[in-house]
Parts: sequence; C-alpha cells; structure tokens
Amino acid sequence: MIAQVIIDIPAQQTNRTFDYAVPPELETLVAPGMRVLVPFGRGKKHQRQGFIWRLANQSSFKGQLKPLAEILDLAPVLNGEMLALAGWLAQDTFSFLISCLQTMLPNALRASYQRRFHLLTPLPADSPLTALLDDPTNGHLPDELSPLLLRTLRNAEQAGQLTIAYQVAQRTKVKHVTVFTVKISPAAAQAAQSELRANAHQQIALLNLIQAQPGFSGASAAWQAQLPELTGATLTTAVKKGWLQRSEQEQYRRPNQLPQPKAALPLTNEQQTAYQAVAAAMADRRDQVFLLEGITGSGKTEVYLAAMADALRQGKTALMLVPEIALTPQMVQRVQERFQKDVAVLHSGLSAGERFDEWRRIERGEARVVVGARSAAFAPLQNIGVMIIDEEHESSYKQDDMPRYHARDVILHRAVTHQCPVILGSATPSLESRARAQKKVYQLLRLTKRPQTAHLPTVQVLDMRDADKVAGKPSFSTVLITALQQRLDRHEQSILLLNRRGYANFVMCRDCGNVIKCPNCDISLTLHRDIQALKCHYCGHQEPIPQACPVCQSRHIRDFGAGTQRIELELQEILPTARILRMDVDTTARKGGHQRLIDKFGRQEADILLGTQMIAKGLDFPNVTLVGVINADTSLSLPDFRASEKTFQLLTQVSGRAGRADKQGQVLIQTYNPDNYAIQLASHQDYEAFYQREMHLRHAGGYPPYYYTILVSVNHRQEDLAAQKIYQLFRQVQPVLSPTAVLLGPTPRMIARINNQYYYQFIIKYKHEEKLFTTLQRLVLEMQQESGFQLRIDREPLQIS
Ligand code: ADP
Ligand code: ZN
Ligand code: ZN
Repeated sequence: MIAQVIIDIPAQQTNRTFDYAVPPELETLVAPGMRVLVPFGRGKKHQRQGFIWRLANQSSFKGQLKPLAEILDLAPVLNGEMLALAGWLAQDTFSFLISCLQTMLPNALRASYQRRFHLLTPLPADSPLTALLDDPTNGHLPDELSPLLLRTLRNAEQAGQLTIAYQVAQRTKVKHVTVFTVKISPAAAQAAQSELRANAHQQIALLNLIQAQPGFSGASAAWQAQLPELTGATLTTAVKKGWLQRSEQEQYRRPNQLPQPKAALPLTNEQQTAYQAVAAAMADRRDQVFLLEGITGSGKTEVYLAAMADALRQGKTALMLVPEIALTPQMVQRVQERFQKDVAVLHSGLSAGERFDEWRRIERGEARVVVGARSAAFAPLQNIGVMIIDEEHESSYKQDDMPRYHARDVILHRAVTHQCPVILGSATPSLESRARAQKKVYQLLRLTKRPQTAHLPTVQVLDMRDADKVAGKPSFSTVLITALQQRLDRHEQSILLLNRRGYANFVMCRDCGNVIKCPNCDISLTLHRDIQALKCHYCGHQEPIPQACPVCQSRHIRDFGAGTQRIELELQEILPTARILRMDVDTTARKGGHQRLIDKFGRQEADILLGTQMIAKGLDFPNVTLVGVINADTSLSLPDFRASEKTFQLLTQVSGRAGRADKQGQVLIQTYNPDNYAIQLASHQDYEAFYQREMHLRHAGGYPPYYYTILVSVNHRQEDLAAQKIYQLFRQVQPVLSPTAVLLGPTPRMIARINNQYYYQFIIKYKHEEKLFTTLQRLVLEMQQESGFQLRIDREPLQIS
C-alpha cells in the first residue's frame, strides 16, 4: 500500500504529493486526511509532518520508497469533503495545497515543530545543555540557539553523545481533569471506617460521604463542595486504600457562558416571505443563493434564525458567518439565546485550546450550529441545511495571506456539495452581489421596513465649511454638541463615529514639512500616544516620538490627524459631565476588551460611545437616540475605486444604530463634502439609488463588477530585479489575452517598499479568458526555479490602486 502525502512545507518545490510505503502493521489504520510523520530530505533523522492525500496500490516513483514513520491521528482530521475543498481552493487561489489544508484546521492541530535532543551518554555536570533537559535523557532546544549552545550540540552530536530530532510540538491539546469515583460499596466503606483511628477526621467524613452517595464521581472541586475541609492528600490516600478510583476525563474549554434562552419572534410579513423562499429551497435541496437586502434594523437576524431552526428541525446543521466576530458579540449572543448548547463559536478571539475544543464539538456532531468569522467557512459540519453570511459586503471575509480566499466563494462551493441554500445578508450589499441578483443569478429578497414601532432615524448632513464650531475645537459643530447635551439631559445615549479609514495619524514638522517615515518601508509611521511611540503598521518597526525634527531640528514637530484619544479629551472639556467610553484598537486590544466596553455601554454606565468603525456594526442598544459622525469624508479620499462604496456602507451602518426601539433616532453627519452622492444617499438610507449611480461609474471606469480583476505582484530585495521580473511576467501574460481584457501596469505598488522588499505589480481586468488561468498556474510553477522572488496572484483583490 502506498500513501500519497502532502508535506508540510509551503513552497513551490513541495507543492505536490510524495509517495511513501505503508508498513504492513499500519495498513488497517491509515486513511486519507490523517496527519503523519514521514522521513523527508537528507539523513534519516529528518522527519516532517504531512497529510495523507490519497492511498494507492502503485507508485510511479522508480526508486526505493521510504516508509511512513508514524501516524499522528487515530481518525482523519479532514474528511473527504474537506480534502476535495482544499484541492479546489488551491487551484482557485493559486495557493499551495498544504497552505489550504492548514487553513482548514484549528491552530492546535497545525504543525509546529520542536527540536529535541536525546542523550546517549550522560552530560558533564557543567554542560549548558543541562538547563534544557526536561527528563534525565531528553531536552528541547529553543528556536534561537546561542553560539555556545550550537558548538556544544555539534560537538556532542559528532562524538555520538546525543541525537537531535524534530518533533511535532503538541500532538493533541485535549484538556483533562482528574476525576475521583467511588469504587467500594457502602458496606465496605462502613467496614473500613471501623478500622480507622478516631482522630482520622477527614477519612471518616469521606467514608460517610461514600456511604451516603454510593457511586459518587467528580473532580476534587466537586468533592470539596460536599466536604469543604477535604484535602487533596486525603483523596490521594483514599485512592491508595482502594476506596476511590482516579481517572482522567476529557473536558471542553467553553469560551463563554450561555445566555438565557429566548423564543422566536412572530415574523413580519416581509420576514415571512423571505424565510419561506429559503425554506422551500431547503426542502427541495436546491443550492440556491439568496441576497437578503434589508435596511438596518429590519430584522434580517430573525430570518437567519428561522432558517437555521428549520434546518435543525430536519436533522440538518447550519453555518453562519459574521465579520470579525469579536466586533459583533451581540450577534453571537442572539444565536446562542435561540440554540443554546447546539452552538459552537469559532473566531480569532478564542484561545487555541478553546478553538480546538469548539472545533471538535462540531466534528463530533455535538454542535449543530456554527457561528464564526471568515475561517469558520471551513467548519467540519456534515449534512448542512443552510449557510448564512451576515454583512456579506464586509472586506474581512477576504483573506489577505495565502490562501487568498473569499469566504463567500468557499460557502458557495460547499453549498453545491451539500445541496443547500445560502443567504447573503446586508443593508448595503457589495455591488458584485447586488449585480448578480440583478442578473437573477441570486434571488433578491428585500426587507424595507423596521418591525413594530421602530422608525428610521432623521438624518441631517452638516456642512462643516460654514457650520458654527466650538471655539478652539474645530472637530465639533455646535449643532452636534447641542444634540449631545440634549441626550445627556434626557438620560439617553449617543454613539460618535470617528472615521479613521484612510486617516493617517502621523507626525510632521511644521517648519520643513518632514514626515517621520519607517526606515524599512515607504510609509509614514503612526503615532501611538498610549505607548509614547511611533509604529510602522506594515513591518512593526517602533521608535520613540522625536523631540525635534530629525531634518531641521525644529521643535515644532507634532501629530496630524485627530486620534480617538484627542477627540475624547476635547469632548470631555466641552461636556465635562458626560461619561465617555472610547472604543478603538487601543482600548480593545486585550482579549474580551471589546465585549467589556459593549456590556458597560449596554448597562448604561456611559453616555457616549466614541469609536472607530468598529462601533458601526451590529450594535443594538434601545436607549441610543443620537448618532454623530465627526468626519464623514476621510474615507472618500482613499485612492481606491471602492472609496465611495466603503463610505456609503460605513455611514449607512452607523446611522442604523440610532432609534432601534420605540424612541425616535437622530443622526448628524459632519462633512466637508455635503453634496457628495455617497454621503447624500447614505443620509437617506437609499441603497438602491446608490447602487444605480455607482454602477454607472463602475461601468464608465471599467471596474468590478463589470470586470473581474487579478493582481499579479512580485517582490525581491533588489528593486531592479523585481522590476525586470514583473516585465517578464507581463510579456508572458499579454499574448494569451483576448482583446476585451485590459492590462494595467506594470507599476511599483503604491507602497513600493515594505520590510526592505520591493514590490512591482500589474493588474488584469477581464470578462472571459480561456487561457488566462492555465497561464497563471504555469507562472506559479515556473517561479519555483528562481530564488529570492515571491510571486503573488490575488483574484479580486480588495484594493486596486
Ligand atoms: P438587522 O439585522 O436587519 O439590522 P435586527 O435583526 O437586529 O435587524 O432587528 C432589529 C430589531 O428588531 C431587534 O431589536 C429585533 O429584536 C427586532 N425585531 C426583529 N424582527 C422582529 C419581529 N418580527 N417582531 C418584533 N421585533 C422584531
Ligand atoms: Zn523639520
Ligand atoms: Zn515598516
């Protein structure tokens, strides 16, 4: 038997299967989708992890096949659907197969190697290796070895005193608890008691408990709940004497407490119509895609929940994606309220252990509903009845590293496999999705009203060019401040958005105009006031804030742009009694920080929630009656054809936070471009008009969704080599394209240098191209011969500029 294995090295050279002989004793144990250790590379000691891709009877390899060294899993970690999905994904995104396989697994299952050494002879007493031993003969090596350690190791290895091996660091991360279970009968306990001395109080009490509760079992805490004075030593004694049995039991780490159950609301007519369309597709096993376009607060979530409940009633499962789940805790809560412990939650805010445990609950069929961020698209659910993508327009559904997949494409692909419908929901669908609904590829479902008494807020656009402003604080119009003061007086709450998109918070010299830039990248450093430092958001470089301009020595060097901290300080000066909560990357960096702020605001322990775009989404607070946008314009000036779309989405989303219950809401948008169509139409919550208008512009400019786009980029340490290479690639692509395709470039990337690598790129805009894909696949393959270059092919990149 032959195992075809994908080796865990993401590189061109290893982007194929390698054949290994399956030793006879393993033949009944191996299956595709299992992780294995195999000898790889020079020397017997080099082992790498891999996945069994396929089993076969023959190999085309001419030489002697090496045998599999070890199987790491008792059952496959990836099922047949996932393996097939990985194969498709690798093709579709021009990625290494191993990167796709790894992406589908929780981190705890991804390979990480530890270098370990095994002693063959004892160490001399003064050896620096002694400190690394974790038992008498074995030790682990740190990632970075000092020259002294290196020399010692090499000498010892050459002298045959030790061997070095690569090992998978953490084979499993199952968490165990020690459980004590009564082993003896009440009668035996009574007999044992009679033999004890009278002062053995704890043992006597324990035997009493054993008699009172035959068969009792639990962790030491459970025993101590019954007998508060009981010590661990007594439990150990009881095990030794044969009264109790000690065993290890597996325990799940659960990320949060379940909320109180909540029943479904009776659906409105619009909701009912939408739900029934989805339910009918589910009943017919149609892989139909629905675009649920519903204004903010129209109750899209109730439709999702109803569809998921329907899937569960039919014995199926349901998958729901939300953007960056940490930003939408209220959505997770609503799903848990409805489906309780049927729900598994997957997102980056979980610890590796929590994530692993949630993943296993799904894999074992113990959780039938999954809510998660982008990578939850790969949740190993079986027999899926419906899949949902909330806020489908969000850019966080696209992954920026290999594999550069869009979760929507993965979901649509899985829908065909599972023969189930998909709901894409949004108040502001991406133009791509809305255009597909126009062409009847997707079925459009609309929710045009808010249920019950909730009304859309009144929206006012404030022209900041001639508005009255607070003296010395030009970020605030007096109209906005008056409205905030009113809310304070009425004990209502307000949300204030600071649009930081495209807003550089950099340090500039007022005398010579010098901007402090990163030494490794062509980009200005960002000011972080809390840590008193300048940081590069691309390479992580950090340096102190200079006292004087490094070019002209002027002391008039200061920050530009209004960070949330500064706005908070100014606002506090204007409204001294207001309780302000600031929500931005700094205040939410800690695990659960975002949730804590939201809970606090929900308990009405603050009057104003001030934050960046992370406050725009999904929040539903009945007492919020005012939403203010401090600067609507900044995202308009991004050098990106989606700048208007992003601005429209942001303003519509944040406006939707006001007046969600029975109180009338008000929205004030401060802007220097009051006539801009994105701002005007967002203020009317008029998505359809925006769609029409923007489609005209996209058509005129030849942009998506009229064209598909692919970005080809190459980087190298040497600028001239990167430039030469991009022209060479360009000349290979050009001849295979039809006349309807458009090539842009080659050009240096907007930020041409990152981390001392130079980036050059070109963009292909096309409608139908027969030969393009095979050509690009070939370029990827050919690149493997050349070192120092990195080729990146990105379909539908989020930015083309
Ligand atoms: P969306 O996701 O479209 O922005 P939500 O699902 O958050 O809207 O619903 C907005 C509010 O309306 C929520 O407070 C929700 O409880 C309420 N709601 C939704 N559907 C109904 C209904 N059928 N009857 C009463 N209230 C509803
Ligand atoms: Zn200067
Ligand atoms: Zn940098």
